[in-house]
Amino acid sequence: MTAVDDKFDADVIVVGGGIIGGTFACLLGQAGLKVILLDAGVRQVNSLKKVDARVFAITLASEQILKKAGAWQRLQKEDIAYFRKMHVWDEDGLGAINFDSASICQSTMGYIISHQAIVDALQEKLLEFDNVRCLWSVSPAYIKEETDTIVLGTEDGLQFNSRLIVAADGHNSKLRSLANIHYQKHDYKQSALGCIVTTEFAHGEIARQRFLKRGPLAFLPMRDSHQSAIVWSSSPDHIQRLREFDKSAFHFELAEAFAHELGEIKASTERTVFPLSRAQADTYTKSRIALIGDSAHTVHPLAGLGANLGLLDAASLSEIIIDTCRRGRDPGRLQVLRRYERKRKGENKSMMYLLDGLKHLFENQFQSVQWLRNFGLDTVDSLPVVKHAILKRAMGLETDLPAVARRRY
Ligand SMILES: Cc1cc2nc3c(=O)[nH]c(=O)nc-3n(C[C@H](O)[C@H](O)[C@H](O)COP(=O)(O)OP(=O)(O)OC[C@H]3O[C@@H](n4cnc5c(N)ncnc54)[C@H](O)[C@@H]3O)c2cc1C
Repeated sequence: MTAVDDKFDADVIVVGGGIIGGTFACLLGQAGLKVILLDAGVRQVNSLKKVDARVFAITLASEQILKKAGAWQRLQKEDIAYFRKMHVWDEDGLGAINFDSASICQSTMGYIISHQAIVDALQEKLLEFDNVRCLWSVSPAYIKEETDTIVLGTEDGLQFNSRLIVAADGHNSKLRSLANIHYQKHDYKQSALGCIVTTEFAHGEIARQRFLKRGPLAFLPMRDSHQSAIVWSSSPDHIQRLREFDKSAFHFELAEAFAHELGEIKASTERTVFPLSRAQADTYTKSRIALIGDSAHTVHPLAGLGANLGLLDAASLSEIIIDTCRRGRDPGRLQVLRRYERKRKGENKSMMYLLDGLKHLFENQFQSVQWLRNFGLDTVDSLPVVKHAILKRAMGLETDLPAVARRRY
């Protein structure tokens, strides 16, 4: 499909070539749309051989989207780890919940993949398109809407026009600011520490999360049977102290906090710290502008869902845009973009509040709440119907998904 009119430089300009913008540009590229992708960073194909502490739990729905984008096929076998089971428990008391993908006849609950491996695969795929032009180290300086077009000027003096600009430039989105869209942010006053650790015992392809008083600590199984990626959320002071500990003090502290579930910590990589907040843009769309991924919303990482929600945004918006262009209509019209907003905003918002509620529930120190929490975990654990419903949702197997994200059996 060549939808673009000669008077436009592109059908769609995408600002931000991270996991969400890269996937979105590939989905449009596969459908033959003419795309310009701008990213402020430098292109880094095959940079992954360095250790990347930013590791994602990827759902089965996201796997489908990345396959459709043509990136999944470019991941190396050793980039993909599986988590077939999940074990979640509370520091106070004996309550616990266990999930097993086999209980709903699936071979895995999802995958653990480094952020850099996914971005590298996307960038490799983007190079294959004649109809997608990628510009690195480029940032927008202004946007200007005209009668049936929108113009984007860059900080180094380039100018492009198209019918739609999509912001995928992350939580500090410049494009969102240029479009004057307000972003309601709630600072969790928590940070997360991430690194890769080697443990005494094998992880057995089980993702584990222990809810501590100050925040959750997750061990995500990596390809190596004794390596896990950890995400430890806690108060900024505590995380700063953990970051400054020497290796042996850090290993001791971590093993203690995880109740020696995987034995001693034998080795660890460089520790990276991320500030945590939840946020929602007041609107995901304006005439000729749409926001996707972290530029539209962020959530607490306790369920590893941020990028998965963003990939559903990319899938949903791409379907609407491709369909509109196929009909020869203008994809930048607000009525078209509102269809995307209706599909995604409520869903993202309810997930944000659900995760918020879980965070507060597990951090509450009242004894009655602690008792209820443990009782609740045990009760859910003993109810297969409820457990299967939660499991399907966590794995991205619900039915109301964009067609691109649905599994073929
Ligand atoms: C500790 C932690 C753990 C997490 N774990 C998980 C997990 O297990 N699973 C999961 O699904 N999610 C997880 N997330 C969430 C996930 O990291 C984000 O949701 C995801 O990275 C958002 O991707 P994005 O492409 O929207 O934004 P980003 O990854 O921030 O990418 C933005 C892109 O835009 C570019 N850019 C920025 N500014 C400009 C500009 N001015 N002009 C042009 N380009 C620009 C950047 O260079 C970058 O390429 C986690 C988050 C944290 C903090």
